[in-house]
Amino acid sequence: MPLKEAHRLLIALQDLDIMIKEAKDKSTSKELESLGFKLTGLEELQDARSKLAKKISPTVLQRYKKLTGRYTMAILPVTGDLCLGCFVKLPTSFFSSINRDLLQTCENCGRLLYIP
Ligand SMILES: [Zn+2]
Repeated sequence: MPLKEAHRLLIALQDLDIMIKEAKDKSTSKELESLGFKLTGLEELQDARSKLAKKISPTVLQRYKKLTGRYTMAILPVTGDLCLGCFVKLPTSFFSSINRDLLQTCENCGRLLYIP
């Protein structure tokens, strides 16, 4: 089953945030430049980010913001039956047909989780 749009938007937002962070980090961009990569278009990235953020519900965005203050990855896929953020085993209710398509929260670390 394809991921819901809400999940995909949030994952894309996280990817953009990581790219923006790297583009802003001078040591990373120098390192990448020396390897032959150029990190240009920070403005374009930020523009894309603000457009994307408008499509995400404010409540989810608020949660995401709080989590990124604490963790690098605020939203993670579930592998097996573990939260990849804190490696705690998730309850079976997590995988029930009602819940499996929802954006869920790890009860231990609070990260947002989705089943890929
Ligand atoms: Zn967790």
